[in-house]
Amino acid sequence: MRIRQLPNDLVNKIAAGEVIERPASIVKELVENALDAGATRIAITTSAGGKSLIRIEDNGSGMGEEDLRLSVERHATSKLPEDDLDHIQTLGFRGEALASISAVADLRIATRPQDAELGLQLRFIDGEAVISPSPMPHGTVIEVRELFKNVPARLKFLKSDRAETNAITDVMKRLAMSQPHVHFILSGSDRQTLNWPAQPISDVEDDFQGDKNRLGQILGLDFAQNAVPIDYQRGPVLVRGMAALPTYTKANSLSQFYFVNGRPVRDKVLLGALRGAYADFLHRDRFPVAAVFVNMPSQDLDVNVHPAKAEVRFRDPGLVRAAVIRGVMNALDAAGFRASKTVSDATLSAFQPGGGQAQQPPTSASPYVAPNATGDGFAMPHQQQWANTSPTGSAPPPQPDAPRMHDVHQPSARMEVAPDLPPENDDFPLGSARAQLFENYIVAQGPDSLIVVDQHAAHERLVYERFKKELSDGPVPAQRQLIPVVIELTEEDCDRLEEAQEELAQVGLGVERFGPRAIAVHETPAILKHPNVQKLVNDVADQLAEWDNISIVRERLEEVAARMACHGSVRSGRRLRAEEMNVLLRDMEATPHSGQCIHGRPTYVELKKADIERLFGRR
Ligand code: ADP
Ligand code: MG
Repeated sequence: MRIRQLPNDLVNKIAAGEVIERPASIVKELVENALDAGATRIAITTSAGGKSLIRIEDNGSGMGEEDLRLSVERHATSKLPEDDLDHIQTLGFRGEALASISAVADLRIATRPQDAELGLQLRFIDGEAVISPSPMPHGTVIEVRELFKNVPARLKFLKSDRAETNAITDVMKRLAMSQPHVHFILSGSDRQTLNWPAQPISDVEDDFQGDKNRLGQILGLDFAQNAVPIDYQRGPVLVRGMAALPTYTKANSLSQFYFVNGRPVRDKVLLGALRGAYADFLHRDRFPVAAVFVNMPSQDLDVNVHPAKAEVRFRDPGLVRAAVIRGVMNALDAAGFRASKTVSDATLSAFQPGGGQAQQPPTSASPYVAPNATGDGFAMPHQQQWANTSPTGSAPPPQPDAPRMHDVHQPSARMEVAPDLPPENDDFPLGSARAQLFENYIVAQGPDSLIVVDQHAAHERLVYERFKKELSDGPVPAQRQLIPVVIELTEEDCDRLEEAQEELAQVGLGVERFGPRAIAVHETPAILKHPNVQKLVNDVADQLAEWDNISIVRERLEEVAARMACHGSVRSGRRLRAEEMNVLLRDMEATPHSGQCIHGRPTYVELKKADIERLFGRR
């Protein structure tokens, strides 16, 4: 067969295959164009998930007749005036979107530049672009109908209207986050209207208030309340945004948003960096909600690596990774021992009659709530019981599920008069211990709040933070076993422990091979006091087995330390004296990240006095 030059419309169709995957890709390209045209108000209307109609209306620069004619040509763009691919400042630059769209759908453009008396309309009649006058306001309106009507293969791959609608929402969220000063309206018969009014342009001066407002509009108010601001510069890389407290997470990474020079991207480097920043606080299967904006000089970046411009390539990925990790970690450090507010909100609503249902926040993000912790509002049974008490004084019928009086006197709750702290002392926000419940929960009274601490979770965090500190100062102090403890393990486990012997000594664990399937332990980290050596070593062996390459143990000693920290913790079930409880509270206040245990669960909840008063209708 002979080689031939393909006809234009076929070339466009082929290009469209890469650029236009689904309705959301069209929305993305058209909204990017509106933003590049300097629009401050962009209205998007869709129907049937964008399959039958996508309409984008902007108040941007508009186009004159010559530009309008060229705009639908392939490789025609106004955005590379210097032919310079190394300094791209616009979202678009490939000059392919409109040509691609016209190849796979009905495209109509109406546009009126700021200085023109009248608008112009472009339509395709029998494949030919035809321009005619059209009255309209300043700006541009683009309508796309009947997507993929001539590409049946693609049509088949489209998902349900609802799924396509959601994909469009997702694209819009990302674009809107990166452009807080633009007003976005997203409406249509297939959705609830989303309206994100413009925010003032903000900067360091006003603490990025406008950017924060926009994130709040999109990710919900409780994200804004449970996130910390990121603001960090390393070399030429500037990292900004908001990152959720470790107690405010989701089960997948869909609520993580990454931007590079204002461009929404999917990027492994950034994803990995965020994960790294939270490694200390989160279980592997939880994902913090976050919006991370990375900015750098355009020459340090290649944006021309993906047909839909959804990916970028960094000249120095290591630097970007380090900047994001440090930026996010600093932000979390600054949050200190704070736990997410949604935890106390959830607690509060669990107390309320009928609570538990109302506690889910209005957004889709869910704060960490332990399974079953939602409760059915345990205030209810008591209240019913009282209501049932007849005026004659006869006892109400016994209610099998209601807590009975004598339960309260079970020895798992104990009270002790503890020395009072100076009143109103803001240095001790966790207050003074008043009681211990169920041998694990410390009830404390703060300056103006009631605090309940999970002693086991809190202690685990404290031990771990101390571990890390010791580790950064040199080898962790070890304590010699009087008689080495011999532990039997599989041969593979023994091999791995033996191989990591030197590293383990760094964290205070002294092990030696003891025959083919046994290990002798002669030292354990002093910080753990009297650990169950068998369990401790089993745990460490499991950890090593998880890594396919033993050579990374050195880099990941902190993870080994985290594993071991659990073994040194005050187990739940241990009674503490008032002084011991207060020592724990003071330690928590002084320790970074003590609002979360190392698995990302909260270590304490706080109910404000005002909230308690509200519970009793006093406010
Ligand atoms: P690119 O955005 O890569 O330049 P497109 O095919 O998306 O390619 O658009 C082609 C050209 O049409 C743009 O460079 C721009 O000059 C013009 N254009 C497209 N959409 C708009 C709009 N909404 N307002 C003003 N000009 C537009
Ligand atoms: Mg474009």
